[in-house]
Amino acid sequence: MLQTTVAGSLPKPSWLAEPEVLWAPWRLEGEELERGKEDAALLWIKQQEDAGIDIVSDGEQFRGHFVHGFLEHIEGIDWDKKTKMGIRDNRYVVDVPTVTGKIRRPGPVHLSEVRFTRAHTSRKLKFTLPGPMTICDTIADEHYGRRADMAMAFAEVLNEEARELDAAGADLIQFDEPAFNVFMRDVKDWGVAALHRAIEGLSCATAVHICYGYGIKANIDWKKTLGREWRQYEEIFPALNESRIDQISLECANSKVPLELLALLKDKAVMVGAIDVATNDIESAEAVADTIKQALKYVGADQMYPCTNCGMAPLPRRVAEGKLRALGAGAALARKALGHAP
Ligand code: ZN
Repeated sequence: MLQTTVAGSLPKPSWLAEPEVLWAPWRLEGEELERGKEDAALLWIKQQEDAGIDIVSDGEQFRGHFVHGFLEHIEGIDWDKKTKMGIRDNRYVVDVPTVTGKIRRPGPVHLSEVRFTRAHTSRKLKFTLPGPMTICDTIADEHYGRRADMAMAFAEVLNEEARELDAAGADLIQFDEPAFNVFMRDVKDWGVAALHRAIEGLSCATAVHICYGYGIKANIDWKKTLGREWRQYEEIFPALNESRIDQISLECANSKVPLELLALLKDKAVMVGAIDVATNDIESAEAVADTIKQALKYVGADQMYPCTNCGMAPLPRRVAEGKLRALGAGAALARKALGHAP
């Protein structure tokens, strides 16, 4: 019970990529880069295991960015045709590549990464993929015309990919959908349907991660506009509770999400974010245990997976290590308080 896990990304070591930035440029190339990514994944597997994390991830050490790491291997995208786009409903403007033809996956994208990680841990393994809606909000469209249609095309190739990762031994495949709490109506109209297409035929557990983003300035400024209580989840949780996705990952630590909204997910397993990724302050084990305790009012201990609010990629490495240890120790305290062996 109260098995711990991470949302997904962990910082790249400074010898691999520039630290503390998103879209960090690699510092190695060629064969050295490939070996460097493996070494970094090994390092984080060990750090997670030592911190008492039950369901480990590769820390997304093999990819530069959580969306483009997948898209780089997909056909139908023109990377030279950059379009300025205000993504996440104009929260930040970036140059994004453009879909100019039919989306196609010519071959496996992350298969070797899952095989490598699987071979180096006996813990349960979680692997993350970008969700169809979030992909569509991070790329311009000159081919499909409707976002819902483009999302379904991406869902098809995500499904091809996910089936291979499932067969290669991933225990849980998580789709990252930060766009879900920006375009709440679309979630109900086609977002959940696209996820269903993406998980078709999988035998492993499935999850969707919905958050308020990395702790970068654009997100911190955006959160200030959301009012005293963040109720975005309230609009989408009923649809997710009805969905065929097994687990929902969300943020609860230092967030203005009213925890009673968790009651809307009564039929789901819930990854409760108990680590704030928007600050370098490392939580005490007691603070983590307290977040878990508050969430236990709405989610059963057998259904709850203490987790980080979001990825930790932009944090200093030492901070992320400390937060992993706090998560492991806090969950142990919470188990003990429930009368279980820590
Ligand atoms: Zn997130």
